[in-house]
Amino acid sequence: MSVLNKQIVLANRPNGMPSLDTFRFVEQEINEPAEDEVLLRTLYVSVDPYMRGRMHDAESYIAPFQLNEVIEGGSIGEVVTSKSEKYQPGDIVIGMFGWQTYYTAKEEEVRKIDPSIAPISTHLGVLGMTGLTAYFGLLDIGKPTEGETVVISGAAGAVGSVVGQIAKIKGTRVVGIAGSDEKITFLKEQLHFDEVINYKTATNMKKEIEKACPNGVDVYFDNVGGEISDAVLSKLNRFARVPVCGAISSYNLEKIDVGPRVQTTLIKKSALMQGFTVGNYAKRFPEGAIQLGQWLQEGKLTYRETIREGFENIPNAFLDLFKGNNIGKLLVKVSDRQNDQ
Ligand code: NAP
Repeated sequence: MSVLNKQIVLANRPNGMPSLDTFRFVEQEINEPAEDEVLLRTLYVSVDPYMRGRMHDAESYIAPFQLNEVIEGGSIGEVVTSKSEKYQPGDIVIGMFGWQTYYTAKEEEVRKIDPSIAPISTHLGVLGMTGLTAYFGLLDIGKPTEGETVVISGAAGAVGSVVGQIAKIKGTRVVGIAGSDEKITFLKEQLHFDEVINYKTATNMKKEIEKACPNGVDVYFDNVGGEISDAVLSKLNRFARVPVCGAISSYNLEKIDVGPRVQTTLIKKSALMQGFTVGNYAKRFPEGAIQLGQWLQEGKLTYRETIREGFENIPNAFLDLFKGNNIGKLLVKVSDRQNDQ
């Protein structure tokens, strides 16, 4: 019996919180590579909150997923057979081939990664998309300076945990907001955040922010939006900067969420609030990756991954992002390397 390519496709467009029924498992023949193509076996897939946005049939900065098509996303694979001069069997590559066990890629669709620098999974996390999001969002928009107070929501996640560490490297006072005691302990004891707030047990977020930030908030790195952000924005200092990275609290809402209007706060505080997507910085990715790699090697930066095992567990892993069931980067390991040198 020949091996088939297992795939996960979008079965329907969810209204509100997605469920396992949002996805369907299918199997396809594996396409042999043509000239300048490679056949890849998937090793790791990334599950990311932004994928929820792609389930809407709506205009955005990235095209919507199509019904009955494979869920596209960052993945790492091993070259099985190559008809490209650029790749050899056993090479480890990264690309957007998504939720499937095999993929036949054109050589320009993937990029080789060096497995000797750090575990290959880090190229989907601290050395990849989420690390770069933290790096550029914080440094380019947040522009933290020594002694300032930086507040981060979603602080124990893939992006937030890197933002906090970079903010520490820059000599700031770092305050993290996250949703469980385990996350709070991780931020305090392993990442050495100065103050931490569990928003799920806090009874008055404004008071908690006030207590954690006696000198006010100079930079607010916003990963979540909603009421957490309403509370932080009320404590901004003059000339504060607010990189708006994500709004996960609203991704599964069925109705538009309206909170306090921000204009008066921004005027009174002469504050800057700027949305961004990491793709804006594509030309500068090498700079960010080199710096993150250097901090990692110097021991100034560390990382945490939550790794689920098995292709069939990808949909559940994706849903876990919205339940807060991850610390650091959430990934799914699909198979082991077979050409492990
Ligand atoms: P992540 O933080 O590793 O995982 C998602 C976390 O969000 C969960 O663990 C959970 O942590 C928190 N969360 C879930 N529902 C929430 C809610 N209703 N209210 C508050 N927190 C909630 O994910 P990530 O990949 O690092 O992404 C973080 C944010 O950045 C997301 O909003 C994402 O869309 C955004 N992002 C933006 C870019 C960009 O280019 N702009 C790139 C990557 C990511 P708790 O237990 O703490 O609730």
